[in-house]
Amino acid sequence: MINVSETEADRLSDHLNQPRIDFDKQYIEKGSNGMMIMNAVPCTFLNENKCTVYEYRFEGCREFPAMHLPGFSKRLFTTLMHYGRCPIIFNIVEEMKKQILDV
Ligand code: SF4
Repeated sequence: MINVSETEADRLSDHLNQPRIDFDKQYIEKGSNGMMIMNAVPCTFLNENKCTVYEYRFEGCREFPAMHLPGFSKRLFTTLMHYGRCPIIFNIVEEMKKQILDV
């Protein structure tokens, strides 16, 4: 699930030369609390394992896999879901396993 802010949606819709209302209809799902997320998994902008809007990607994409943020243990399940496809997560988990087994 990729959260999208109003600013990010404005920026990307401008880049795509698409009116914001059309952009929202095509790519965004809105929650009852007004929160916006991308409406497709995998992301519509992913093509051949590359982000087609890299310069305009969302904050959540920029932070992924968020190993630098506090609360890692609370995100463990989500993190491990990407173990097989994200080399950063793979390498960190493998290093953690080595350190745990060496103790
Ligand atoms: S990095 Fe690009 S392709 Fe990946 S989720 Fe974000 S916007 Fe989509």
